[in-house]
Amino acid sequence: MPRRATKIVATLGPASSDPALLEQMIRSGVNVVRLNFSHGKAQDHIDRANMVRAAAKRAGREVGIMADLQGPKIRVGKFAEGKVMLEPGAQFVMDASRTELGDVHGVGLDYKALPREVKSGDVLLLNDGLIVITVDKVEGEAIHTTVKLGGELSNNKGINKQGGGLSAPALTAKDMDDIRTAMSFKADYVAVSFPKNATDMEMARQLCNVAAEDGHRPGLIAKIERAEAIPKLLEILLASDGIMVARGDLAVEVGNAVVPALQKRMIKLAREHDRVVITATQMMESMITNPVPTRAEVSDVANAVLDGTDAVMLSAETAAGKFPLETVIEMAKICHAAEGGEAFKLEADFTGKTFTRIDQTIAMGALFTAHHLGAKAIVAMTDSGATALWMSRHLIQVPIYALTSKVTTQRKMTLYRNVRPLLIDTSADRDTALKEAESDLKARGVVQSGDIYAITCGEPMGSPGGTNMLKICRVS
Ligand code: PGA
Ligand code: MN
Repeated sequence: MPRRATKIVATLGPASSDPALLEQMIRSGVNVVRLNFSHGKAQDHIDRANMVRAAAKRAGREVGIMADLQGPKIRVGKFAEGKVMLEPGAQFVMDASRTELGDVHGVGLDYKALPREVKSGDVLLLNDGLIVITVDKVEGEAIHTTVKLGGELSNNKGINKQGGGLSAPALTAKDMDDIRTAMSFKADYVAVSFPKNATDMEMARQLCNVAAEDGHRPGLIAKIERAEAIPKLLEILLASDGIMVARGDLAVEVGNAVVPALQKRMIKLAREHDRVVITATQMMESMITNPVPTRAEVSDVANAVLDGTDAVMLSAETAAGKFPLETVIEMAKICHAAEGGEAFKLEADFTGKTFTRIDQTIAMGALFTAHHLGAKAIVAMTDSGATALWMSRHLIQVPIYALTSKVTTQRKMTLYRNVRPLLIDTSADRDTALKEAESDLKARGVVQSGDIYAITCGEPMGSPGGTNMLKICRVS
């Protein structure tokens, strides 16, 4: 498999729950597995996490596990016949007090607060925006609407309000239970759905910290999928370890057309603030049913790579599609080709940057040197992964090998662009450890005799934030 800098996140589901298939998917390029907590019970997720760890072990590569919380369900109730056909121009009443099952004239609501959060003139989008209705009036618990764009509406489909403004809290009681489950199997990342501000993320982080009795600290990913999150992007970003460009819900709330520009802005902002970023939803959508992607999908994935995303994500393609393995193989090929298509230059403002931290200065020094010297590799001996994260925020061609003695750090780094996380034993003194690192990389075929590489480490070894040394070596 050719080297690839951009990481692939794949969602686990019925289509990818066979252990042998999952192992193949990991061998073919999956770096992080997403467990979708919108489906399944606690024990299902625990079993799946164990299956992922076992498959990764068989494949001989470490993968990260991302627990994706369901978040608030803003949904219609159920229908007597499971679904109805809404015709344009028809009247449709959504009633929070309705107890009987729905029909073509109206339906109950899962989200009981909705009548107090909409007013006449509001536009509501159902089923991922496929159905559009406008609010005529609100009477008590009943929202009277007219169907603008019709279609089939089935049980428990989602409701979004155009422009945002629904107040459901980002963390539900179920999410709090799910955080405990995710911490029981040491999820490497926890993704929070529909956060509106930094407080939502801080709360999620506290809940994780309280639930993790062993001191495990997952990375927190904010899914940017609410209109309200856009003006608060920076504060949400700073309260998180990364963001997801959650194009599915985001497009429904802010309109399809503005999402590509937002994607570029979010990727840039995340990189500038040393955060990771995942580009998600419908990237290879047609491969749910077809064995090859469309030209537009190829272009979408390649453009996310060129924007500088850390990872591209697969949802239904791997969770419920007919070609989960083929999709991963195709996606890996597209990433590889896009990365090689253009020589990355260090951003022009790089040399003007100032640092206050010794470890960050060393990381940037290694990056600058390796890039301009044309080194074969940058090697970061890292405890927390911070050195590798800083280095990976700038797009360069030189691969970064992050050597750590902590498996939790190794797994967290699976999401970092251009970083290959490796587990090593760093109990030795510095000179021995540096020698061992070189022979390890030689044995893996990363470097050969005569190659130049840059290596960073700290003394004493193995203390977080202790990186204070950069050495440029020629392989003996
Ligand atoms: P979801 O989030 O797949 O959990 O809905 C991603 C998105 O909305 O794009
Ligand atoms: Mn979503």
